[in-house]
Amino acid sequence: MTYQALARQYRPQNFTELVGQEHVTQALINGLEQGRIHHAFLFTGTRGVGKTTVARILAKALNCEKGVTGNPCCQCSSCLEIAEGRFVDLVEVDAASKTGVDDTRELLENVQYAPTKGRYKIYLIDEVHMFSKSSFNALLKTLEEPPPHVKFLLATTEPKKLPVTVLSRCLQFNLKRLNLTQIQNHLIQLLELQNIEIDSVAIELIARAADGSMRDGLSLLDQALAYGAGTVTTKDVTLMLGSMDQKSVVGLLNAVIDKDKESLNKQLTQIFNLAPDYSRFLHELALLLHEVSLCQILNSYVDNSAFDKNTIKTLTEKTTPAQVQLFYQIILKGQEEINLAPDSKTGFEMTIIRLFAFEIGNPDSLNTTPNKQKAIQQNSKQTNTQQYTQQLPSEQNVSSVQANRTDSTQQSQSNAQSIAQTTSNQAFKKYRCCEVNSETWQEIFQKLAIQGPTKELARNSHVLSNDNGTLVLAIDEQVQAFMTDSSQQRLSSALKDIISEDVVVQFKQDDDNRSTIAKTQQQQQEAHIAATKNKVEQNTFVQHMQENFDAELIQIKQGESFI
Ligand SMILES: [Zn+2]
Repeated sequence: MTYQALARQYRPQNFTELVGQEHVTQALINGLEQGRIHHAFLFTGTRGVGKTTVARILAKALNCEKGVTGNPCCQCSSCLEIAEGRFVDLVEVDAASKTGVDDTRELLENVQYAPTKGRYKIYLIDEVHMFSKSSFNALLKTLEEPPPHVKFLLATTEPKKLPVTVLSRCLQFNLKRLNLTQIQNHLIQLLELQNIEIDSVAIELIARAADGSMRDGLSLLDQALAYGAGTVTTKDVTLMLGSMDQKSVVGLLNAVIDKDKESLNKQLTQIFNLAPDYSRFLHELALLLHEVSLCQILNSYVDNSAFDKNTIKTLTEKTTPAQVQLFYQIILKGQEEINLAPDSKTGFEMTIIRLFAFEIGNPDSLNTTPNKQKAIQQNSKQTNTQQYTQQLPSEQNVSSVQANRTDSTQQSQSNAQSIAQTTSNQAFKKYRCCEVNSETWQEIFQKLAIQGPTKELARNSHVLSNDNGTLVLAIDEQVQAFMTDSSQQRLSSALKDIISEDVVVQFKQDDDNRSTIAKTQQQQQEAHIAATKNKVEQNTFVQHMQENFDAELIQIKQGESFI
């Protein structure tokens, strides 16, 4: 059985099956049932929210053999042919590939002829904003006086790019971005239909990464299923998305703040089991602290935050501004040092222990430098004053509390700045764009902050060409399944971090079995094993064993120290 992508397999066939767009579907159903059918519809909204899906269902509703209906039967030959994309009277066009006026003329040539099979001849034009000006003019003529048997269904992500003359002739429907719960519930429903065990944390991660687009959610779920060989687990999804489970970030910070050793131990074990990118985890912790700090000082929240407001609020109440600033500094320092640590897990754990063991104003607590201790004591003095004055509320004291708050924040900020300065001074060498070629690729690859499929793509790629910042990578057959727009973007942005000019990555399937980093590594490994085998065979002790005891050299295993 060939595998069919979930997005395709479970494409909504009816208005009622479409998630999150009730405001659109209800209006369409009402219009259809009451026989008020406009001749041109425009569906707008961000990518992957269901614009063309709605249009196709509408095409069915207009052409269903059971009559024009808000609820097409999905069984008659018209409905079935539309669902399979082979209905003669539904002309689907991707405007992005047919921008010229000749294309449009050719497309509209047959407009005046009656439909072959259906009730209406339907033109579904996707990404219609890509039309050229003259194409729009050609379309406009037909839109002004359309034959009664013709319906236009236009879809676009950018309605602002459409001429007003076109806009004014269409009935416009704006499809909404889907919220987290809508995507989550839909994915869970599909997994239930497939009898696949549901890992709710993994689903939440996928739904969050889908960022309002159901199509992205479905294709990420497909990728996760491929990655996990038919199962979806938090560990695989974390690896695949290179993202963190926000719950473990919050859980860890709570354990630190609560000084709960048992919980901290548990959290660290759980995190270890997820095999995360530890540096990225510190990054997420820093983001969380930033949000807590914003809430504490400015009483504001970050839009589209990965953390929920209640979590931020609780953390805000449990910490002092000085403590949050201090944690933030320790984490920045930890990020700076993680590459110097024996391994990233050790570096990460030492940073967390430092967070845990540090107590403001306690000279016995862990510390890094005497200067820092001084700064912390100053901070803590201010915090103490603050607490003291808070016990004696009077107008006079209110102003001193505010002053102290500002002081301690400024103090911590200047410390943070000096740390940031050091980091940027130690910044590693940046490459020039023209230096990226098949010879330097392995060296550059080692410095890229990527993981999961994106890392595998880069590891299994060959630099085909580099034309003024357009980097074409030939991707080995084995990992071609990972070639997506998002991994292309991830790789481009990782490259931007280490290359001084802008770089755009393009993937191309490699059919010529070119050399890749993965292949080179494999060859090095094989050569290493061969050399070792040779050495072992030359060893006098081994030779002695062979001669006197008929010993045989059976296998040479690769030790863990080999990289
Ligand atoms: Zn039908």
